[in-house]
Amino acid sequence: MSYLADVKSVEKLNRLLDACRTNLYAFDEDLIRRAFQFSWNAHVRGKPRASGEPYFSHPYEVALVVAKEIPLDDISVASALLHDVVEDTGYDLKSIKAEFGNEIAEIVDGVTKISGAVESHEITRAENYRKMLLSMAKDVRVILVKFADRLHNMRTLAFLGSEKQQRIARETLEIYAPLAHRFGLAKVKWEFEDLAFKHLNTTDYEYISRKLNAKRRAREAYIRKFIQPIKKRLGEGEYEFEITGRPKHIYSIYNKMVKRSKPIEEIYDLFAVRVILDTADKNECFSVYGVVSEIYTPVPERFKDYISVPKQNGYQSIHTTVVGPEGKMVEVQIRTRQMNEIAERGVAAHWKYKEEVKVPDRKLDEWISWVREILEQPAVSSGEDAAKSFLEGFKLDLYQDEIYVFTPKGELQVLPRGSTPVDFAFEIHSQVGTHCVGAKVNGRIVPLNTKLNSGDQIEIITSSNQNVNPDWEKFVVSRKAKAHIRRWVNDETRKKAADGEEIWTKRLKKHKLTLPEDDFAKLVRELKFENPQKFFVAIAEEEVEPERIIARITQQKSAKDTAETAKPAHTFVEIARKASEGIVVDGSRSDWKVSYAKCCSPIPGDEIVGFVTTGEGIKVHRKSCSNLARMAGAARERIIDASWPGESSGLFVAGVSVSGMDRPGILTELTHSISNYQNTNIRSVSAEVRDAIFESQIIIYVKDKEHLDHLIDKLKKIVGVTRVDRLQGQNA
Ligand code: MN
Repeated sequence: MSYLADVKSVEKLNRLLDACRTNLYAFDEDLIRRAFQFSWNAHVRGKPRASGEPYFSHPYEVALVVAKEIPLDDISVASALLHDVVEDTGYDLKSIKAEFGNEIAEIVDGVTKISGAVESHEITRAENYRKMLLSMAKDVRVILVKFADRLHNMRTLAFLGSEKQQRIARETLEIYAPLAHRFGLAKVKWEFEDLAFKHLNTTDYEYISRKLNAKRRAREAYIRKFIQPIKKRLGEGEYEFEITGRPKHIYSIYNKMVKRSKPIEEIYDLFAVRVILDTADKNECFSVYGVVSEIYTPVPERFKDYISVPKQNGYQSIHTTVVGPEGKMVEVQIRTRQMNEIAERGVAAHWKYKEEVKVPDRKLDEWISWVREILEQPAVSSGEDAAKSFLEGFKLDLYQDEIYVFTPKGELQVLPRGSTPVDFAFEIHSQVGTHCVGAKVNGRIVPLNTKLNSGDQIEIITSSNQNVNPDWEKFVVSRKAKAHIRRWVNDETRKKAADGEEIWTKRLKKHKLTLPEDDFAKLVRELKFENPQKFFVAIAEEEVEPERIIARITQQKSAKDTAETAKPAHTFVEIARKASEGIVVDGSRSDWKVSYAKCCSPIPGDEIVGFVTTGEGIKVHRKSCSNLARMAGAARERIIDASWPGESSGLFVAGVSVSGMDRPGILTELTHSISNYQNTNIRSVSAEVRDAIFESQIIIYVKDKEHLDHLIDKLKKIVGVTRVDRLQGQNA
């Protein structure tokens, strides 16, 4: 099946297969061949790269980068070959899926989407762009292929126009370099930074690189010279060790120059040496430190013992700066092999610590340490199945509780996962949310309850005629949208309730009814409404007919009126007693404190005696009280004569209740009518008006029952009075 157009293509394929053979645990050679062929065919008619090379050279180089520099598996190599097919050729995702299956199709789709999202917008908040990228990539290999793609583009950036160069370089520095760092891909990160720096700040880049090149031989010679005596002494001491001079990359030198505002010559740790000891004994690190200090004078304030006190991320090493030959400062790091490994694998944790990332992404850490294992031991073939299945099962779920979407102007908005255009609209502005009628996602009209995805660009269509739809509450997820919809619904309810209340008040007025607050609350409860507001809303929405409720109230009221007139009996006891203030004790009105015994509860008219208590004055009992008889047996002398006031003049206290329709002057008429009849003495009057009904209790002194009956007849004749009753005592 495979026919390649020319010898050059065959050579290319072989080079890629060789890279796979060298760097991957195992790989499906046929898969790589098919992907190579497919990509070649797809891109053959495409326009050439800016460099003038056929377009296929790009996916091919990207696949080579994956195989050599970020070697993971054959799937990522094949995906790299195919990563631009959907974007740039007539083939679609379906044909890739048909030919290569779901896994590769999904990776290609992911890379295409990330490119679309990042590259079509201006970077405003880099941190959010990085999160967006991670939230879009469900498979880590999407990010890796994207890194490789970006690396190749950066390496060939010189062929693009300068505006494009600047944009891509900035993107690389702000988004891809920090991401590569986060993924523990230090070399990739350095290259991103240096290449971006080269295009963003060409002058400084060239200055530093010129300086470094000019001094490279000298520098290497210097390091050799520096290392030599150390090597010799360590060899004599029979240490197993590795000693290296570490190169620094240009961007980090530049940063140090800026940070310390010093010329390049004074960036002393341009010289850095690492001693790695093949031993399990950490004390050897201190011995080696001793050896180094004997050879070169250490700078005391630059000594750091991260072995006794490891860094928060577990990093262990001795750092010291010494004065080397020619008085130059050299930083020396001393650690065991194991410490070195931990330092390398702990890159993610270290990075996190420095960048103050708040949410720990444990899965990423797991992945990074695993990837590092592969990157560091590419030749080992044992355990490959476990590794492979781990990778297949590994789904990247970073920032999956958030989505990152764009406004029409390309501004990035962060929303909770599951957000809809309505959530987005309220995020933009409450007015946009309130009047939202429709939405376009990536240029296509969608229903308002459509779930948005990271990278989507959303346009909200508004109309001043549209208002919040309470149904939106069922699908929105953001707090902002929920709160706004809730508030709007509440406002609407309030308005409706006000309308309902107005209707209700008008109806009551029409029926000349007033309803005290307590009675209204009771009514609302009886009608099974949660609160008055709901009752009024029901009236406004014509779910409740006010007339029917009013009929019900009127009915209840007349029943209650009958019940109420019978009620005051027990209050009369108090009223009557009050009216009888100044009980006559031993023939004269007393200044004694007087109270009434609970056992027999005497009321005016009863025959009474006084009982002198200790500390409570005189307690009034009925003469017939059995309790008193018992107490008196022990203390006869404490019983004294007592009588109600007025009793001596042949008068006794009586009470009447009068009710009727209220009208001006009715109370005056009542009292006149009483006092005009045989000079009847009024002790007290109380009156109240309720719902236009007049109710009064009058306490009077009468001679006898006949006197009282005549008075009652007189009162009944007064206009408006409907009822007159004698108040009855509790025990009468
Ligand atoms: Mn590409």
